[in-house]
Amino acid sequence: MPAKPRIAELEAALARLRRRHAERRRRVLETPQQPCVRLDGRALLSFCSNDYLGLANHPEVVAALRDGATRWGVGSGAAHLVTGHSAAHAALEEELAGFTGRDRALLFSTGYMANLGVIATLCGRDDTIWQDRLNHASLLDAAVLARGRLRRYPHADAGALARQLADQTATLIATDGVFSMDGDLAPLPELAALAERAGAWLLVDDAHGLGVLGEEGRGTLAHYGLDAERVPLLMGTLGKAFGTCGAFVAGSETLIETLIQRARSYIYTTAMPPALAEATRVSLAIARREGWRRTHLQILIKRLRSGANQLGLPLSDSPTAIQPLIAGSSEQALRWAAELETRGILVTAIRPPTVPAGKARLRICLSAAHTEAMVDRLLEALSELPLEPSPPAPSSTTDSA
Ligand code: PMP
Repeated sequence: MPAKPRIAELEAALARLRRRHAERRRRVLETPQQPCVRLDGRALLSFCSNDYLGLANHPEVVAALRDGATRWGVGSGAAHLVTGHSAAHAALEEELAGFTGRDRALLFSTGYMANLGVIATLCGRDDTIWQDRLNHASLLDAAVLARGRLRRYPHADAGALARQLADQTATLIATDGVFSMDGDLAPLPELAALAERAGAWLLVDDAHGLGVLGEEGRGTLAHYGLDAERVPLLMGTLGKAFGTCGAFVAGSETLIETLIQRARSYIYTTAMPPALAEATRVSLAIARREGWRRTHLQILIKRLRSGANQLGLPLSDSPTAIQPLIAGSSEQALRWAAELETRGILVTAIRPPTVPAGKARLRICLSAAHTEAMVDRLLEALSELPLEPSPPAPSSTTDSA
């Protein structure tokens, strides 16, 4: 007789999540990704999207996708190594290599898969993989998939990592460039020096830095003035500042050829639609040339931070589009998000395990598509919140999203 599915156990686990205010809820968006959205039938001003430059809904990008579909059809029809690799993909890869100043770039269907592909290709059982405590979940999962020894160092603390490396080996050091839930920057120059000293790979996941930081939006490395050779493995996503979907890894000829031959999350999956590659070529060009988007975003960041400061709001220290307001408990974060929503403002409450226990927060995301008046509306709504942070709970493991 077949084993009975353990539905009762699943139901009990779901009920526990609900009791702990840890249940995640999907919302139904009825408009394109833009500041003024309709969600579950309500008009709201949104500060939740990673569309940092306001390109997800840009008419030229939309037109490129439409024209791309007319030329290429919708589906790529196969994996890159079968017949899925088109001239559109090849052109985008070349442009991304130029943009990041590297020999080559390789497209992946998502950032999650790019991180799995790089780490599981370069590391195995005998390798030690060092990661920042607050790295994105995909980097952590990649280390598990590689079956290597995963070691974590305190957040953005190159000094602590240096002490740990004094008597331990390292195959690869991986870090977010801009941390996805905190908006702060990794100390890349120090990490690059440590990686060089240890003879380890350095992988920077710049999902939230590319497009936003540095000249032409070249990201966290450009922000620090770090040469490409100092960071041999660069991962970038296309679904955030570039407003489309997918990801890439940029690096040397040998690295990219190795990934093509061995990265399972590259080999065994359908290539992204070529039309999406065409749309991304256009959004990349806009992101590079329209520096006003970054300037405007910085103006909004300053406006939010100085307004929050005047209101005594405990915004975390972040120079990027991600501006977290720490609530403490999940209950408090959910309460604040609900309060804001009654005032027409949408900000997602981020809770453990995405962030450490006791560090639930509102993750406020700014975009070049916002206006200063929109930021003022957000500040007005925030000023009406009952802002007593709840006491922090003990820290635990995290899965940054
Ligand atoms: N890395 C980081 C730092 C991210 O924030 C994300 C997306 N949340 C990813 C990787 C995964 O990218 P994608 O959404 O393209 O899978």
